[in-house]
Amino acid sequence: MMTCGLCGSGISADEKFKKQQNGNIHRYVYYGCTKARDKDCKCGYIEEKELIKQFAELLDKIDIDEIGIREKLKYEVERVKKFQQGVLGIKEKITVGDIDIRNYAKYILREGQDIEKRELLGCLRSKISLSNKKITLRETTPDKSRR
Ligand SMILES: [Zn+2]
Repeated sequence: MMTCGLCGSGISADEKFKKQQNGNIHRYVYYGCTKARDKDCKCGYIEEKELIKQFAELLDKIDIDEIGIREKLKYEVERVKKFQQGVLGIKEKITVGDIDIRNYAKYILREGQDIEKRELLGCLRSKISLSNKKITLRETTPDKSRR
C-alpha cells in the first residue's frame, strides 16, 4: 500500500536495536524505500512512531477497509463484555454498531500496541507515498460503488 514518492519502489520496514545509556535496548522500526527501481534513491527513512503519528493526522482523508476494522472491533467488544460479566459481574450492552469506526482507528493509533497499529495500517485502502520523511495520499480514482 505504500510506495516511495521519489522512485516508485515499495517501502519496507527495517528493525534496529540501539543500546541506551541506562543499558536498556531500544527497538526502532524504520520504514524506507526498497530501492528496487533506483538503487541511489534518496528517499530516506522514517521511524514507525513518526509514521503512525502522520497516519493519525491523515486518517480523516484516508480510505479504510471498514469491514476489516469492524471485525477487529467486534472481537474487542466481545472481550470487554466477557471481562465485565466474568470478572466484574456486570452486563453492559455495548454493540459494535454504536462505535464510530474512525474514532476507533484513531484510538488504536493513539493507545494501541505496536502490533495493533500495524494491523490497522494493513486495513488502509488508500495509496500512500513516502518521501522526505513525509507521507502523502496518492490520488486514486474514487470508487463510486462504495459510497
Ligand atoms: Zn525510492
